Amino acid sequence: MKRIFTFLLFITLSIQTVFAQKTYIQAGSLLDVKTNKMLKERTIVIENNLIVEIQNGFVDGGEGDFMIDLRDKTVMPGLMDMHVHLENETGPRRYLDRFVENEADIAFNSLIFAKTTLMAGFTTVRDLGGTGVNISLRNAINSGKVDGPRIITSGKSIAPTGGHADPTNGMKRELMGDPGPESGVINGVADARKAVRQQVKYGADVIKITATGGVLSVAKDGNAPQFQQDEINAVIETATDFGIHVAAHAHGDEGMKRAIIGGIHSIEHGTYMSDETMEMMIKTETWYVPTITAGKSVAEYAKIPGYYPAPVKAKAETIGPLIQDTFGRAYKKGVKIAFGTDAGVFPHGENYREFIYMTEMGMPNLEAIQSATLRASQLLGMEGQLGSIEKGKIADIIAVDGNPEEDIEVMKNVIFVMKEGKVYKKD
Ligand SMILES: [Zn+2]
Repeated sequence: MKRIFTFLLFITLSIQTVFAQKTYIQAGSLLDVKTNKMLKERTIVIENNLIVEIQNGFVDGGEGDFMIDLRDKTVMPGLMDMHVHLENETGPRRYLDRFVENEADIAFNSLIFAKTTLMAGFTTVRDLGGTGVNISLRNAINSGKVDGPRIITSGKSIAPTGGHADPTNGMKRELMGDPGPESGVINGVADARKAVRQQVKYGADVIKITATGGVLSVAKDGNAPQFQQDEINAVIETATDFGIHVAAHAHGDEGMKRAIIGGIHSIEHGTYMSDETMEMMIKTETWYVPTITAGKSVAEYAKIPGYYPAPVKAKAETIGPLIQDTFGRAYKKGVKIAFGTDAGVFPHGENYREFIYMTEMGMPNLEAIQSATLRASQLLGMEGQLGSIEKGKIADIIAVDGNPEEDIEVMKNVIFVMKEGKVYKKD
């Protein structure tokens, strides 16, 4: 009996081996993001959603295997943007939309933004704030119902009353009401704990706080710290209990310091970051996600009459242009940097622009790509599964025409996108 069973098991395994279809990607150049070296003529073997082998030279698969010819392309891991907002996109109607759009409208729009992002080569994103539709979007993508990047989402951002991310800022009194922790608005330690637990209950993967004022909220201040130290501490302690990270939007230096003291995982934007704060970040190994593209974009949009309400225009003009310089200083000092753009503040799919702005400040081209692959996977704590093309990792693979080491602009034209072993784009 046992012998028959063994025999049957052998037959079953053999059939699986014969019929398991593999995908062979022949890569002319393969970017190794761990060493920042271009490897020549490699073949990546994929089975189901995983990379199972990388062979030297151009290798052909067996009968029934799927061949992908990228012999004259540069192949690299799927790109990862650590700061996007997939629920919306900039436009002069933005401040009106929140009064006329229903959740269903936001959901339909977000499908387009998600697909555009994936087609631009971004196979993983961190969505740092929306209404909660971003959680449903993540679920729909995970279940294969719609096309989009893998999403790590914060649900709704957390702010104090009147802070950047209080959803009723700038409205008339009767519409302002008094939103509470269920809506991500907190005052005091108990509210802070409740707001985090509420977002986790809704399905958030990460918590986002607005540690200082922000550019696009209809409020005069863009820099002042928003939370008291005990509130920030309570947010981070509560999130840590769930094993999830907290990301802090911050322009002003004092708000950044409080977030770092509280144990924040990443500082977003970081506009007025002082040298002292950079040193704190190096010591505590806090990540910096610069979003230079957002700063550049809002400064441009502010020049268009009527595009932003008056208080937003003033902040966009002063804060926007500074981020690139802050990035340059932080890079030279040695702060840990992961790629993030704030896409949504500018059109989705233009995430590649961040590469150009980073390299303009002296970061080598392949190091910029590393920040959007290996480094981003480390920020997420997912370096075991994502961020490089290696045996055993998830098959998130893209390709571009030309050589990004010589010309970073080639990142604009991603011609091949594979996510979890499935091809979404092949020009
Ligand atoms: Zn943002």
